Amino acid sequence: MTETRELEGGVAIVTGGSRGIGLAVSAALAQAGAAVAIVARDAERAAGAVTGLPGDGHAAYSCDVADPVACKKTVAAVESAQGAVSILVNNAGITRDNILLRLRDDDWADVIGTNLGGAFNMIRVVARRMMKRRAGSIVNITSVVGLMGNAGQANYAASKAGLHGLTKSVAKELASRNIRCNAVAPGFITTDMTAGLADSVVEDLRERIPLARFGEPEDVAGVVRFLAGPEARYITGQILTVDGGMAM
Ligand code: NAP
Repeated sequence: MTETRELEGGVAIVTGGSRGIGLAVSAALAQAGAAVAIVARDAERAAGAVTGLPGDGHAAYSCDVADPVACKKTVAAVESAQGAVSILVNNAGITRDNILLRLRDDDWADVIGTNLGGAFNMIRVVARRMMKRRAGSIVNITSVVGLMGNAGQANYAASKAGLHGLTKSVAKELASRNIRCNAVAPGFITTDMTAGLADSVVEDLRERIPLARFGEPEDVAGVVRFLAGPEARYITGQILTVDGGMAM
């Protein structure tokens, strides 16, 4: 872990920051000096996650990112309690996997509404504030599945591919206001989300990873910290895969 505090004085919202990749991202941004706002539906778990972060000034907010009104209220609450948001990490995500013909309407709507709609809801409200200040960095957590597609994940892959288009459009639209927007596309990372996969699927996946191991949340967090911070000041509209070489 780097010892610089390059995000000192900044405020970072991390959606889905209460566990898995989001929790590691929250810890990395806190380590870099940012005050972190963890946003998730389960308030108790989010509050517990905050207590484990290094440094102070962090807070937890209960919010379903699929609800645009809740996002608006949450961002207002973050700014009044913690200060101007300088970093937004759209990490909240869900899966509802099934083969195409068995995907139900709500499997489609929930995944698109949370993964893609949630990022849109948060970006729209945060960007308005960042634009006034002419500064900000947005990082969307997507997936290699959004680049490659995946049988049994049409809804999830579409949501992540949609995020790639959203990332590039936001990058183009907001660059003149000094707001950057990038995406990190993880491969297979060990979290609750991947814990339920069948052993045969896991073995098949491992064989497709050149670095021959699954990633850890911290492998993603360091890259998010880099993209969010000043070292990446000339990078926008990019999709950086963190996947052990899987999507080459
Ligand atoms: P996870 O362990 O299941 O955690 C998901 C987080 O998102 C939780 O904090 C959850 O909190 C929050 N969340 C879910 N729905 C939400 C909603 N509607 N509103 C607000 N928060 C919500 O997932 P993960 O594996 O860390 O994945 C994090 C991100 O990385 C996701 O976008 C996922 O698609 C992406 N990703 C993961 C992998 C992987 O291999 N794990 C690979 C590629 C991409 P609550 O349940 O309390 O709301």
